[in-house]
Amino acid sequence: MVEAQGVRKNFAAIEILKGIDLTIEQGTVTCLIGPSGSGKTTFLRCINHLEKIDAGRLYVDQQLVGYTERNGRLYEKKESQTAKSRLTAGMVFQRFNLFPHMTVMENVIEAPVHVLGRPKKEVIAEAQVLLDRVGLGDRGHSYPQDLSGGQQQRIAIARALAMKPKLMLFDEPTSALDPENVGEVLEVMKDLAAEGMTMVVVTHELAFAKQVADQVVFMDMGVVVESGPPSEVLVAPKHERTKAFLSKVL
Ligand code: ATP
Repeated sequence: MVEAQGVRKNFAAIEILKGIDLTIEQGTVTCLIGPSGSGKTTFLRCINHLEKIDAGRLYVDQQLVGYTERNGRLYEKKESQTAKSRLTAGMVFQRFNLFPHMTVMENVIEAPVHVLGRPKKEVIAEAQVLLDRVGLGDRGHSYPQDLSGGQQQRIAIARALAMKPKLMLFDEPTSALDPENVGEVLEVMKDLAAEGMTMVVVTHELAFAKQVADQVVFMDMGVVVESGPPSEVLVAPKHERTKAFLSKVL
């Protein structure tokens, strides 16, 4: 589903991603872990076409991200093409970014109705199923400010799913929540994983990674230091940098 080959990204003169090689198979959960500033969020944003890579190749659902290839040469895509490709992945942010002036239902149906131009009645019926699925089927008429952080994040997940993405990207989805709200969001994510959704999750929740991830990727200073199943990377890491990181956070 995602194939990164030597992906590089600079901000001004600073190289943030220094050649990321990574394969993410369809129907699997990949957790990206690593110290602050290691480039995890930047890589996630590259997958979702929110950042343009400077070198290497990044394929999402077999499409080259940000460029088209002709006769072995790469040409930058126009923003209109990029915006369309962005719909392949759904993204859930640390801060839920719900529209405050819209009800829960309006938040969930906004993009399918206004971006995809789908019939409102049909989208509302699907949105109701999604709200039920995240345990908030009775909150369609509420406004975001009347919900807890955990509930808002579950709505944000339903909103992303309403676009029927092929993969879901989560950027530290629980790190802005009060501790008592973390579990309910992780449960929704576990259900999604069990249903076979391809998921890439930047997270500091190592217990979640251990339980749910098929692949854990430890990044540091813009490179993948180590990747593999949680039983290897989290339990028996090979690299000193991984060991040092885990000893600090576990
Ligand atoms: P965290 O766990 O703190 O979120 P991270 O591993 O996700 O860290 P990134 O958010 O990808 O790290 O950031 C990597 C580096 O890139 C940081 O030093 C950050 O300041 C820098 N950076 C990120 N986005 C931009 C930008 N738009 N312009 C300039 N620098 C940026």
